[in-house]
Amino acid sequence: MSKPLLEINNLRIRFTRDGKILTPVRSVSLRVSDGERVAIVGESGCGKSLTAMSITRLSPTDMAMVDGEILWRGQPLLGISQRELQKIRGRQISYVFQDPTASLNPVMRVYRQVTETMQGVDKAEKIRHTADILAKVGLPDPMRAALAYPCELSGGQQQRVMMSMALAANPELLVADEPTTALDVTTQKQVLDLMDRLADERGMALLLITHNLGLVAGRMERVYVMYAGEIVESGPVSEVLTSPRHPYTRGLLAAVPLLDAPPDRPLQDIPGTVPSPDAWPEGCVFAPRCPYADDHCRQCHPELRCGNNRECRCHKEIF
Ligand code: SF4
Repeated sequence: MSKPLLEINNLRIRFTRDGKILTPVRSVSLRVSDGERVAIVGESGCGKSLTAMSITRLSPTDMAMVDGEILWRGQPLLGISQRELQKIRGRQISYVFQDPTASLNPVMRVYRQVTETMQGVDKAEKIRHTADILAKVGLPDPMRAALAYPCELSGGQQQRVMMSMALAANPELLVADEPTTALDVTTQKQVLDLMDRLADERGMALLLITHNLGLVAGRMERVYVMYAGEIVESGPVSEVLTSPRHPYTRGLLAAVPLLDAPPDRPLQDIPGTVPSPDAWPEGCVFAPRCPYADDHCRQCHPELRCGNNRECRCHKEIF
């Protein structure tokens, strides 16, 4: 059997803050196969981005202590040199982040940013090359966009520029971290459709990080639901969306606005907020927000139980 493209086993990320050790990611395991579309879903502060960034050691601080195993085609990534990692980051794994405005250099024209790594090529060729790439991601008037400064483009156009930069090396895996959160709803759909099309054309795997469970329906194949630094549920998207087993997944689903919902149906929310890593409760971390919590839940941390291609971290089998 061929090895998965990406395999993460028992990933744990710790930081030291004010003399205390915090563990915002604990024991996360997931896998992405060649060409597979996988999503990690959860509210802000659940450790999704940290997990994704740790794949190529993009953690926001050098102080992070990372344990576990991250395998790329069976080869360990933890412990290899930054130089080797940079090669993988450039050629095999690319990232698109949430806010293109913050990722693009505001004082450099787009073509200079897209062709930053091209050596021995004159300006006219760089502009032509950039316009070609931008045309492939559906930017209207790509020549004008190639010569523009980022502030002259809309948010959706800037995100297309980011996507073209991420795809320039023809990566095997695109990690898209909340790629549409900063965009309006119509542009969100266009960018997600574009991502789908490019992944199809290239046979590229996708790892989508999002807080919106509604975005994964019909687009992704497998979903991992994360809460407070751990996976609480996973499985094929079609099954998790139609028969969620964990109360947190059910809460996220109920919070997705539906166009065909009766106008008097109130939008559901999950009471409370994700606790910060220095205030995680004993037992089940979701217990303070869970309508089914009992004393056993509050005292005993549930294991991730697996079966039939699904995983669920909950003491109760009623779901
Ligand atoms: S273990 Fe208990 S508190 Fe935690 S999600 Fe399940 S029912 Fe809720």
